[in-house]
Amino acid sequence: MTATENIPMRTISNPITEKKLYEINDADPETIKNSFAKAKKIQAAIRNLSVKERVNEILKINDYLIEHRENILTRIIEETGKSRFDALSSELFEICDVIDYFKGAAPKILETKNVHTPIVLMGKKSKIFFEPLGTVLVITPWNYPLYQALVPSFLAFLSGNAVIVKPSEVTPLKGLIEEILEKSSFLKDAIQVVYGGKETGKMLIENRPDKIHFTGSVGSGKKIMEQASQNLIPVDLELGGKDAALIFDDVNIERTANGIMWGAFTNCGQSCTSIERVYVQEKIYDDFVKFLSEKISKLNSSSEKRNYKSPEDCDIGSMTTEFQSKTIESHLQDAVLKGAKVIFGGKREDGKMHFPPTLLTHVNHEMKIMTDETFGPVLPVMKFKTEEEGVALANDSIYGLSASVWSKDLNRAERVAHRLEVGNVSINSHMLTEANPALPFGGVKQSGFGRLKSDHGLLSFCNIKSIIIDVQGKKIEPHWYPQTPTKYKMLSDLMVALFSRSKNWVRFALIGLKLDNIGTKEKI
Ligand code: NAD
Repeated sequence: MTATENIPMRTISNPITEKKLYEINDADPETIKNSFAKAKKIQAAIRNLSVKERVNEILKINDYLIEHRENILTRIIEETGKSRFDALSSELFEICDVIDYFKGAAPKILETKNVHTPIVLMGKKSKIFFEPLGTVLVITPWNYPLYQALVPSFLAFLSGNAVIVKPSEVTPLKGLIEEILEKSSFLKDAIQVVYGGKETGKMLIENRPDKIHFTGSVGSGKKIMEQASQNLIPVDLELGGKDAALIFDDVNIERTANGIMWGAFTNCGQSCTSIERVYVQEKIYDDFVKFLSEKISKLNSSSEKRNYKSPEDCDIGSMTTEFQSKTIESHLQDAVLKGAKVIFGGKREDGKMHFPPTLLTHVNHEMKIMTDETFGPVLPVMKFKTEEEGVALANDSIYGLSASVWSKDLNRAERVAHRLEVGNVSINSHMLTEANPALPFGGVKQSGFGRLKSDHGLLSFCNIKSIIIDVQGKKIEPHWYPQTPTKYKMLSDLMVALFSRSKNWVRFALIGLKLDNIGTKEKI
């Protein structure tokens, strides 16, 4: 990084070829201030659009994503090193899937709801309005640079907000989001992109967005929450994970091993919900590890020693960053020093981002590889005896993002799913909850809080406003002043009549009528 007039300039390179792609400046304070002013102005226009009109703007983007998918994927691959299959399935496919679901669901979720009004409020009506918050700041990580930017931004926009998105400084995809948004004359202003690193992120928060949707590491999440607390800005934190897969001894080993491999190695393990720990019930442990090891040896990874030609040809792409590769190495070193055995892989090509899929056994919870987020193509496998022990091992983590349970016995699988301290569980698959936009996504414990997608995720970008409507008449409410001993006695009797286990409707009606009558006559 070099500095021009104190504004950091970054060089973005292809992690595989190391070829420089472009240089990019961080936004200066004036640009940031202007983007908030622009957001405020456009937000007034967005809130006047119906949800269906907002959907129509997003559909223009959807058409563009489909038509130009190969070029867009090439841009993502250049900066991340992921395989083309991963880029298609977990970035573009997922974005289109979310749009497809919310084009029908959003108008229903966001329409005004008439809700129950209790009998003591007879004659009144109760409603909930779902209104925008204002300007939403979306801060994104580098592992799914397009998905993480567009999905929260689209949901925030559908809820009527203006959006400012700050991509990761590692994979800014310079100009790509703007190029995509250009296809809607409305969205190109409604969602603005501001480039830069964490200092830029801090400056954006100083400008007081009305909500922050943050996806990234636990450490950054804590700092963002601390800064946001100064102005009580609401935050959703989608943070790291240490996903466990629990495999019971009644599974089909071949199918399960295939699922586990994909869950651990997709996106080269650089996914917040990739499998980071596998627990296998003792009866099938040896067979499972043997099968897994044979299968892994046949995978085509980007590691050059394993025949890498291009992202088109490989099952597993490369790592995106040097710092993450170093984290993997340090976790492996720690594990081996403490007695872990490397069954396959374990060493990256010197100085390169190609990390082979790695299988480890003889691991335990004293090792970082079983406790800290590794975020790479590493699969440590441990044995467990009973359901109780399996659940305890899976829950022995500071993280609580997602997990998977593998068993033919679906009653047991659901029972275990209830006991896992996570936000998402896939049964007989991994990360599958994320493939359904009707399901909320988010974590517990140090994996953060808040939910993306589903009704919950869309409503998280709303001011959920309660409305109660009374008529304009002469009547004074019985609980208004003056508060006389007679009224007190009546209210007390009314409470007993209405809320005792067996309600006394006759008594309730009589007292209610009397109270109402007093309300009509009494005035201060
Ligand atoms: P990171 O926390 O280093 O950075 C994420 C973003 O936050 C970047 O845009 C960065 O510039 C910005 N940032 C960092 N510090 C900031 C600050 N103090 N104020 C404002 N902005 C700040 O994370 P990363 O390395 O880019 O991403 C990897 C992490 O993201 C992993 O832990 C992974 O598990 C997590 N992740 C979570 C999810 C999820 O949905 N739960 C999804 C993807 C990635």
